[in-house]
Amino acid sequence: MNVEEIRRGFLDLVAARGHKIVDRAPLVLRDDSTTLFTGSGMQPLVPYLLGADHPQGDVLADVQPCLRSQDIDEVGDNRHTTFFEMLGNWSLGGYFKDEQIRMLWEFLVEIVGLDPNRLYVSVYSGDEALGIPRDTDSADIWTELFTAAGVSADRVVLDTEQRGDDEGHHGAHICFYRDKNWWSRGGGPDTMPIGDPGGPDTEVFYYFPQVEHDTAFGRHSHPNSDGGQFLEIGNSVFMQFTRTESGLRELGRRNVDFGGGLERIAAASIDSPDVYRVSTLWPLIERLETLSGRTYDENTHAMRIIADHIRGAVFVIGDGVKPAGKEHGYVLRRLIRRAIRFAHGLELPDSAIGEVARVVIDIYADAYPDIAAAGDDILATLAKEERSFRRTLGKGLRELRRLGKENRPLTGEDFYTLYDRYGFPVELAVEEAFARGLTVTDNWRTEFDECTLQQRERSQAGSKLGVS
Ligand code: ATP
Ligand code: MG
Ligand code: MG
Ligand code: MG
Repeated sequence: MNVEEIRRGFLDLVAARGHKIVDRAPLVLRDDSTTLFTGSGMQPLVPYLLGADHPQGDVLADVQPCLRSQDIDEVGDNRHTTFFEMLGNWSLGGYFKDEQIRMLWEFLVEIVGLDPNRLYVSVYSGDEALGIPRDTDSADIWTELFTAAGVSADRVVLDTEQRGDDEGHHGAHICFYRDKNWWSRGGGPDTMPIGDPGGPDTEVFYYFPQVEHDTAFGRHSHPNSDGGQFLEIGNSVFMQFTRTESGLRELGRRNVDFGGGLERIAAASIDSPDVYRVSTLWPLIERLETLSGRTYDENTHAMRIIADHIRGAVFVIGDGVKPAGKEHGYVLRRLIRRAIRFAHGLELPDSAIGEVARVVIDIYADAYPDIAAAGDDILATLAKEERSFRRTLGKGLRELRRLGKENRPLTGEDFYTLYDRYGFPVELAVEEAFARGLTVTDNWRTEFDECTLQQRERSQAGSKLGVS
């Protein structure tokens, strides 16, 4: 199945099971002091998961566009994109583990057609010291489903297996769980906020035997390590406890929160460990191949970054953001300029960013009509930002080369100059420095912030005096 069919298949299934399809939240959050973008389907539902009544009932679902700028350094691997769509369904005091796990099985195996032999699941192992039992309910349901499908249930693993092994955790591309399968808004069962709900979660992985056991990044291949051969495609959280002064207590109203990665499920459906092969991303890669005259196989990392960042930028601009020096606008600027930097590396023509953005807009025209409606504005905004950065990109790179010859670690002040004069977002400049084998001071971030502050003070003083 392709992305469109899976999105539709999910919504049809949950609707048939009595879920109200709620309106998705905006991607860009304007009144939230904690986060700039919606990063999961659950995020807008938190008040209801904490106890408020939802106007549309207690059995809800949607497909939520998400942006995780915190995942930007992972982009380039086979599974993380900054923008992605999350399938979500929720029960607020309605159904619980049995219905959730069986419905998820039906979706993955019967509707999407995933091979049960390739599914692995992890469950919460409990905490003896805190007196929290292992999630045997979930384990038993999974075991029954696997057994009925003629598959050995040894693939139902505990979250503790293979964990605590610190080997190979040091690169940006490695995701290896240290936490147990426990969800709360913050902390484990003993440190989460008093009065908050929390509980075990059960995660689903898809196994790709065609991936080398240990990749270049040293990823672990184990159903509990989201890396190498196992791709996390979704997880179900069961909020059944609340924390009180005296410890955990069973909740009267128990909730389910399911989040599944649409692109990852689509990748599993076409037996590809690479999410960029799915129907919403592959046309972008193909366009990049045509425009550059180069192959994806030889330019995988750069093409993934360009495709991801342009797609993310299209959705962020579509939600009304313009490139700027802070907050949402800065994240957007970073996405666009980083895409341009990598496009420059592939010697892509100036028109490339716009052409790829056009492909994104067309792909999502049916599912996200707002994006199509804002199409011209999106392209104009991208073109404007591109013009301003392309002008200084070459000079900035030359300046970086020159700084590299000074035989000293680069400082936050250097990065400030690169931003101020040549428009290099600081993270991009640091990345560039590392790519050239240069060193940077430990305090580059503080030094950079200090320069920004000084500049702000100078310009405020200037405007008070009437000079600007
Ligand atoms: P991972 O461990 O792979 O980083 P996660 O545990 O952080 O994923 P969740 O918060 O559980 O992700 O989100 C629910 C689902 O959304 C995940 O199971 C995965 O399928 C998908 N997902 C999460 N992050 C990304 C991403 N950056 N790009 C694409 N899909 C994602
Ligand atoms: Mg993650
Ligand atoms: Mg995970
Ligand atoms: Mg997860």
